[in-house]
This record gives sequence, C-alpha cells and structure tokens, in this order.
Amino acid sequence: MEFRILGTGSATPQLQRNPSAFVVTIDNFLVLIDCGEGTQYRLLEHKVKISRLRYILISHLHGDHYFGLIGLLSTLNMQKRTEPLVIFGPKGLDEIIALQLKYSGTILNFKLDFSVTDPTGFNPILETETIEIKTFPLKHRIDCTGFLLTKKKSKRKILAEKLPENFPAIFYKMLQDGHDITDELSRVTYINAECTTDGCSEKRLAYCSDTIYDESIVDYIKDVDLLYHEATFLTEQAERAKVTFHTTAAQAASIAQKANAKQLIIGHFSSRYKTTEDFLVQAQEIFPNTTLSKEGENFIF
Ligand SMILES: [Zn+2]
Repeated sequence: MEFRILGTGSATPQLQRNPSAFVVTIDNFLVLIDCGEGTQYRLLEHKVKISRLRYILISHLHGDHYFGLIGLLSTLNMQKRTEPLVIFGPKGLDEIIALQLKYSGTILNFKLDFSVTDPTGFNPILETETIEIKTFPLKHRIDCTGFLLTKKKSKRKILAEKLPENFPAIFYKMLQDGHDITDELSRVTYINAECTTDGCSEKRLAYCSDTIYDESIVDYIKDVDLLYHEATFLTEQAERAKVTFHTTAAQAASIAQKANAKQLIIGHFSSRYKTTEDFLVQAQEIFPNTTLSKEGENFIF
C-alpha cells in the first residue's frame, strides 16, 4: 500500500503549499482522497497515471477538498477514458458535478458511479477481494467523514522456481489458498510450505481530514498502520482551532497515541505559518513517530 501526498495546505491559498489531495496505490489501481484545486496538476507533476484511478473519496464540501474534481473529470474525459469511475462523497456533490457538466455541454465517455456518504456512524462503503473502505464521522463545520482503507491480507506467494513449467492453473490456485497438492492416491506431491511463502499481511490507513479534536475518532482507527490527521494550528492557536473546528499538531498526536497508530502524518497547515518545524516538535512530544507531510512524498507501508 502506498500513500502519496499531493497537498499540505489549508483553505487560504498559499504559494508554497497546495490544497488537500492524496493518492493511495493498492495493487494496480489508485484511490484519490480529496481533490483540492489544481490536483490534476499535482498528479502530472508527480507522474501519477490517472488512467489507473478507480475510486475518488471526498471528505466534505469545503472547496479546498474538492474544487479540483471537475477539472480532473474533464481531463479524464478528454483522454477518452471508458472505464467507470466511482466517487464517494457528501450529499449534493453529484448535483454540483451534474450542473457543471450540463452547462459546459460535457457528456462523459465513461460511467460516473456516485455514492453518497453517511456522515454519521461507521459505515462500510466498498468491499472487494483485495480492499475494504469504511467512513467514520468527523466533527467539522459541515458534514464530514474520515476514511479507513484496509488492504486485505494477500494470498500465499508462489515460488515459481519450485514448480514445473506447465503446472495446472487449478493447482496453482490451491497452493495460493494454502493447500498441499496430492495425486489420485492421496500422496502429497507438492508440499505447500515448500512451494509458497506468506502473502502480505493486512494493512490499514486512516484519513482524518478537517475535524475538531475529537476522541471518539479513536475507536474507529485503533491500531492502524498509518494515520493521516489534519493539524492546521500550533498549540498557541488552540482556541482558534476549536472555533474553526480544526486540530492542533499536539491534538493530532494525542489521537495517534490513543489509537495506538504505528505512524502519524500531519498536514493541512494554516497559511499563517511560513515554516512547519514547530508542528513536528509539538507533535513528537506526544507521539514520536510523527512525520510532517511533504508534497510529492510517497509512504510505502
Ligand atoms: Zn474544511
């Protein structure tokens, strides 16, 4: 699983930071989380192949989290995309997109499959053979959800050098599922442990975009491998964070600590801060394994 950061800024435009957008690579496809203004340029800049995009998750309808969406959809259309694209987002986003497409006279070549997210409760929104995505509620000024992405444990890996060239596909699948192969007299001909190794273990990523400090998040994200949490302010502006329904670096670290996360990445820095070192200092006092988000950086875990 890979988590690439495309934007580290917040709502007020800043020259040195872009608005929220993150891309997750799972196997051979991509999940885009939030899509702030100009996200398609960041994808170009970091050489992310948008043809591999399969799902887009939008946390809430403040512009710095979705104003880039119509541009990206238009570009996918110009590139003659035909594969369906699935968007999960708040109520009203489908209407906004439909209106923008209507008045620009755009007819998409591909199917846009839109699902409304529920801003209350812990809700599964997608389950496939390899991944599972759930939403959980965040407390912000408008409806907002966090996302929990799970890459399921993969099947056993085959050691091809241990098998003959024309090894039957059905046996191949049995080995992946952990079985030994036996002949018609029930004699073991291929011992699973000798022909395979363990697959990748389950990995979980939690994404907490805009939210006030809220300990009820902890229950949803227990023991995640990677937690991204917004940290718009420093402790000195804790009151400002509260009024605007945002979090400080120390509060984000406290959530990571209470959730027993393995690693924390903080971002969504307010434009009032020209440098971000203090965010790291304040967060690491509580949760040492904190990293500052940096645009273009890719976390493999
Ligand atoms: Zn917001």
